[in-house]
Amino acid sequence: MATFAASDLELVLRERFGFSRFRPGQREALELLLERRRLLCIQPTGHGKSLLYQLPALLFEGMTVVISPLLALMRDQITQLGERFGIAAASINSDQLEHENAEAVEAARAGRLRILFVAPERLDSLADFEFLLALDVSLLVVDEAHCISTWGHDFRPAYRRIVDAVAAFSERRPDLRVLALTATANARTEADIVTLLSGTSALEFAVQRQGMDRPNLALERHEVRGLPAKLATLALVVRRELAALRASEAGGSGILYCASRDQTELVAGFLRELDIDIAAYHAGLEPDQKRSLQLAFTRGELPLVAATNALGMGIDKSDIRFIVHVDIPGSITAYYQEVGRAGRDGEAARGILLFDAQDREIQDHFIRSAQPTPEDFALVRRVVAEGGEAGPLKLGELKSRAGLHPTRLTVVLAELIEQGFVRKQLVKRAQVYVAVERDDRPSLLRYERQLDVRTRELEAMLAYGRGEHDCAMATLRRALGDEAAARCGRCDRCSGAPPLDDGEFAGLAARASAWLETRPLVLAATRYPKMSDGLALLDGPQRGPSFARFMRGRTSASELEPRLYDLLALALERLRADHEFGGVVMLPSRTWAQRELVGRALAERLGVPLLLELVVYRDAEPGPARQGTLVNNDQRKDNVRDAFELGPQRRSVPRGALLLVDDYVGSLATMREVGTLLRKVAKLDNALVPFAIARVRWKLGSAGMI
Ligand SMILES: [Zn+2]
Repeated sequence: MATFAASDLELVLRERFGFSRFRPGQREALELLLERRRLLCIQPTGHGKSLLYQLPALLFEGMTVVISPLLALMRDQITQLGERFGIAAASINSDQLEHENAEAVEAARAGRLRILFVAPERLDSLADFEFLLALDVSLLVVDEAHCISTWGHDFRPAYRRIVDAVAAFSERRPDLRVLALTATANARTEADIVTLLSGTSALEFAVQRQGMDRPNLALERHEVRGLPAKLATLALVVRRELAALRASEAGGSGILYCASRDQTELVAGFLRELDIDIAAYHAGLEPDQKRSLQLAFTRGELPLVAATNALGMGIDKSDIRFIVHVDIPGSITAYYQEVGRAGRDGEAARGILLFDAQDREIQDHFIRSAQPTPEDFALVRRVVAEGGEAGPLKLGELKSRAGLHPTRLTVVLAELIEQGFVRKQLVKRAQVYVAVERDDRPSLLRYERQLDVRTRELEAMLAYGRGEHDCAMATLRRALGDEAAARCGRCDRCSGAPPLDDGEFAGLAARASAWLETRPLVLAATRYPKMSDGLALLDGPQRGPSFARFMRGRTSASELEPRLYDLLALALERLRADHEFGGVVMLPSRTWAQRELVGRALAERLGVPLLLELVVYRDAEPGPARQGTLVNNDQRKDNVRDAFELGPQRRSVPRGALLLVDDYVGSLATMREVGTLLRKVAKLDNALVPFAIARVRWKLGSAGMI
């Protein structure tokens, strides 16, 4: 094997990448990788870590394989590598079309690539795994390596396959170079990554850790109580920051991170009420909508987004001037990573946390729902062992039969495979799962430990939220293993934060309260069956008093409270702006005693006929199980499938839009089922507009509503 002099590195840096010198730490890392062959590099984001494999990729004979979960990052890098540096690269991931993946495989086999990016999920496929093993690989890169460790804040089951991959590659090629990269690993996670990736290899890992300070980032915290106070404080912070952006003339933008999809919509909705230009971004949007929002944000055409943490992973935008956490993240590691997306250009930036002690509930819920139980393990083993009529099950069949939340099923299945209770097999090119006969039970130790880690990390984050520290940045750095951290001199504790316009607070909080009670809740349009945007009046997760009264009163034939009629009138007015209504269709219900009464009120206001019997139950008794008693949306869909048929009013359906009315909606499965009946069986082409008094959120993976 050739040796490389330091001057070679500089030459390649200059000639191929066009940079005159390395950033601090980069050359040392490269030299360590070349000499020691195995390196774990821990450095803050935005530090140019991709150069640590892009440059060596040009020095070696064989190919560089990068295992990374950051799809957006892959896309950007492949384009940049090709267009700017003339380095052939491609990727294999499940977001690409099959022919795109096939082309990448072909190019890699033919030796036409220098760098191949692979999404960790692909390692789960036996075919892809074999293909990778057969390649001539000189350097294997594990990006976001903290995801391997159950001590890490973001353990992902698919990442366990990386451990197998590194072991298998090392067996074939003992001198293989391995580079593990992460922005966040405390001492324990670091030790765990090294142990896992070393396996039985004789090569020892070198570890390079860089300081975690972000000298241009000023951190700030505001404690609030209740959602109206949170929204009011948020409005004040956003106004202050947008004013600063306008004053600076340098441009830039801001992100408001929220804990859930609903919260992004809520935050964007309220700020729009205050004439602030903002969009909501989350994983539930249609793919083309997500792409166009991402593009608008990256280009600076959209200065402000309310987003879940799905936005930002791998987005290359260096002039984000402020990041507000509307809800507390689950750990300091997650917080550091998310807030670290601000100010990557080195110019001054702010990270602002809004803290409501009640927010711990949602994080507790995330932690608990990620935790598989012994029952989950038993269930998946049983379903795998039983198989289907045609033999062993594929992943999709397994998901539907087990009825677990999809993420939890993936975790449990990966664990059963790793512990040797389930085996993967290829049958006619399809991957199926087979049970291994054993009398013992799988160990849950890893998950117990993880629950422990996550709970402790949340506690540390909550303490930060409560302000139990002298310096915000130093607290984050120490939690991440940066022992050298001293007081930063720029956070709200060290030097105070710029003031908010407190005189406005009370007015904004009152406005937020009123808005929360009457804001329109959009029930998003669906493509199959084709249904328009609809509306619901009351928001379950917000648990307003009107919601509680309605849910209690719906089974007695009492009148709706007058305020609901006002909301109802407002909602109909909104819907009428888009539709010419022809009729009101009441969905069948065995428990809603106010069904006819509300139907009459709606039909009267719209001046259209009321259709109480266009859709009826197929069987008189027994009805389907109540949706709230089921544990996932697949089961909710199955539960109402074929539950309804057309009733006596089928022959007199009026023209014009039909308002489809139910007392409350959750997964929208019942609405969709009725929509499908009206489209497919009744062959109606009227616009279908869903409408409900209340919207609830079912818990995922267990019975009941949030
Ligand atoms: Zn400080």
